[in-house]
Amino acid sequence: MAEFDVDLFVIGGGSGGVRAARIAANYGAKVMVAEEYRMGGTCVIRGCVPKKLFVIGSHVHQEIEDAAGFGWSIGQVSFDWATLVANKDKEIARLEAAYTTNVEKSGAKIVKTRAVLEDAHTLRLATGEKVTAKYILIATGGAPNHGPIVPGIEHVMSSNEAFHLNELPKRIVIQGGGYIALEFAGIFAGYGSDVTVVYRGDNILRGFDEDVRKHVRAEMEKRGITIITGCTVAKVDRHGKDYTTHLSSGSSIASDQVMFAIGRHPNVANLGLETAGVAINPANGGIQVDGWSKTSVDNIYAVGDVTHRTNLTPVAIREGHAFADTVFGKRPVQVDHATIPTAVFSQPEVGTVGLTEEEARAQYSHVDIYKTDFRPIKATMSGRDTRVLMKLVVDGASDRVLGCHIVGDCAAEITQAVAIAVKMKATKADFDATVALHPTASEELVTMRTPSARHVRQAAE
Ligand code: FAD
Ligand code: NDP
Repeated sequence: MAEFDVDLFVIGGGSGGVRAARIAANYGAKVMVAEEYRMGGTCVIRGCVPKKLFVIGSHVHQEIEDAAGFGWSIGQVSFDWATLVANKDKEIARLEAAYTTNVEKSGAKIVKTRAVLEDAHTLRLATGEKVTAKYILIATGGAPNHGPIVPGIEHVMSSNEAFHLNELPKRIVIQGGGYIALEFAGIFAGYGSDVTVVYRGDNILRGFDEDVRKHVRAEMEKRGITIITGCTVAKVDRHGKDYTTHLSSGSSIASDQVMFAIGRHPNVANLGLETAGVAINPANGGIQVDGWSKTSVDNIYAVGDVTHRTNLTPVAIREGHAFADTVFGKRPVQVDHATIPTAVFSQPEVGTVGLTEEEARAQYSHVDIYKTDFRPIKATMSGRDTRVLMKLVVDGASDRVLGCHIVGDCAAEITQAVAIAVKMKATKADFDATVALHPTASEELVTMRTPSARHVRQAAE
């Protein structure tokens, strides 16, 4: 008789868990995956995919406005929120089914239930069953932060609920200045809502390049989004279907919905981590792992958002894949977390890879900045007041391109391609040697010849 019921038990059928389960099963392992909600996890069910569908749809209004300059005359247009949500739900259900089929095709078994650790080799399912496993992978993801607990917090929704609203809010207040707040600000504004973003710091997108932060804010404001900085939501009152959001500054805003997008926390609560001896990383509250995604317990691994390293889908997928290669494929692989490209699907979009100017100047003694800020060709005919930002951060000593930052249409698509060059440690001379593709916005990345700023640190500094 086998010593364990399965070779691998995966807790969580999201990006990281699904990839690990499929690859391990392909290597011949006997795999079981527990999912307590819906297969596909956050990205597919209430993250990247439905968000991107909402973003795509919300661009249409702007396209219609821009069309007039190109000779189009478009009559009365109307938008139906219910159709958008229903069609999005249909697509998400299709993807959920595809995820389920793919996992099952690999030979892994799915159990649609919550699973928690009873000890280092035993899982307890919500159905009451127990399963023993040689290896356990924790891939339970994360969830929206609800705090701080202000009076009226029960009236506040997170991104989870925003995907299922019965109607488009005419006015919405969104607290937060990160990915989700800005993406939903663009979504709601695109469909016609009056949007106010409330952010506690001096400018949105902390941690991004300073020029990017200023540019995005200015562009979002041009599109009619109100951004209030330097304050927080202190209280939310409800009067029937209306809300009044009271700010720490003393002012208040009336709206039909209030949303907080103030970060996410790893799903570690009530998982039985203590009983199994799995340690938490005190620095970030996620499960502590080494470079192989191994926890403090030899046969238990953790990948994705539950480790709170880089909370992005492709990273969770890589970590899950690397775990399966290492443990079941006899191909030891560590995930390189450096130079990961990322995009904020705000309107306009942000794409970024590598170091910001501020990070580069702290780490390198000679930093050259190549920056351009221009009116995109489409705006010359549409008449829209908008500008694109492109910026390269270069190590003046080695000529290596350390970072690339873009704000404008297709920034995410451009950044994915540029990320290959940055990851390969391309130099500015390599960029210059590349012939421009005309007429594009991104040709600016290979035609900027003169630094807009040069920062040379003296030896004594
Ligand atoms: P998840 O995908 O969260 O999967 C974890 C799964 O575990 C869930 O299905 C959950 O139900 C299940 N689970 C939890 N506990 C248990 C248990 N005890 N038993 C059984 N099942 C359990 N990333 C990008 O790269 N690009 C984007 O554009 C992007 N947009 C996003 C938009 C939003 C609104 C949000 C919220 C996130 C977005 N992300 C994006 C982040 C991305 O969704 C996550 O990084 C990714 O889903 C993490 O994958 P994971 O496998 O770690 O966890
Ligand atoms: P972020 O970390 O991006 O942003 C959180 C925001 O909330 C920050 O502006 C932060 O301010 C603010 N904040 C935090 N705590 C408080 C508080 N107590 N009161 C008021 N404001 C507060 O988190 P999100 O929730 O937007 O997204 C979670 C994660 O999901 C992202 O970090 C990213 O990893 C992933 N994601 C990725 C996307 C993509 O790839 N396009 C899209 C959506 C999510 P401050 O900066 O001052 O700390």
